[in-house]
Amino acid sequence: MTDAADDARPGYLAIDLGPSRLTAGVVDTAGEVVLRDRVATPPRNVWPALTQLVRRVLAANPTEVAPIAVGLTCPGPIDHGTGSMKPVGKPMWHDFPLRRELSAITQLPVYLDTAGRGLARAELWRGEFATVDRVDQDFATLSVGDEVDGALVSGGVVLEGLTDNLGQFGHLIVEPDGAECVCGAAGCLSAYASVRAIEASTGRELRRTPPARINNVGIMIARACASLAAMFDVAEIIVGGVVPEVLGPPLFDALAKEFEVRSSLPHLASVRVRGVGSRQIGPLVGAAAIALAHHRPDAPAPD
Ligand SMILES: [Zn+2]
Repeated sequence: MTDAADDARPGYLAIDLGPSRLTAGVVDTAGEVVLRDRVATPPRNVWPALTQLVRRVLAANPTEVAPIAVGLTCPGPIDHGTGSMKPVGKPMWHDFPLRRELSAITQLPVYLDTAGRGLARAELWRGEFATVDRVDQDFATLSVGDEVDGALVSGGVVLEGLTDNLGQFGHLIVEPDGAECVCGAAGCLSAYASVRAIEASTGRELRRTPPARINNVGIMIARACASLAAMFDVAEIIVGGVVPEVLGPPLFDALAKEFEVRSSLPHLASVRVRGVGSRQIGPLVGAAAIALAHHRPDAPAPD
């Protein structure tokens, strides 16, 4: 896979593994997506489907970009020791040795993390914070899609936590005694704002979500953002993922209104909650950013 033409420029094989779709592609080291492919996530036999997709992308890859590492985003929490994941509500996905299997297929080192943490890395790489002084790179991300998670960046550092899973913000409580979450708790953000939760409550596809429900999703995300702002003292909270992408401005309007009500500490008056912005930092760039952040070409690859 690395025996491309000698003048090939380096890049990353990027993979976003979600409960509803599998996306894979090639991203160059400037952050441009040069190839993209995706399939619906099958209800069972996910790994053969993923293998097939990865092989197809590698076969279609133009020879001018040679992947040097694989970056993958997937639902957390992640077992970084074994390179596998343990997403709540997805027992069939638990403990599959993703890193080892993908490394065997691609002959490349594989790095995995959540979408929210990928979004933070992508923002530092390609987004508005890329040009901000490191000491002022204080922001949180919230990726709202099939899964809801995020990350905290303080002084330019993506904080890891004890088990390197800091950022499971989908399980912030936004409605005490509220809807049951797949994690077993009640009132988690994920139980209101994930694609699955929204579609289950409306009986419609995400893009056909009625205005009142969009308003409710905005309110719930705002409550989580108010908690994040109070906890972390950040300049911005960046809300990405397919939910804000599809629900668009009405979601952000509801969010802004509720956030203002919920967040009145004087030092937080200037906190900005925004979307991912005009620079393209979609899921594949997030996945590539994971590889970019961790891959040291001269260091031995993780097992
Ligand atoms: Zn939960």
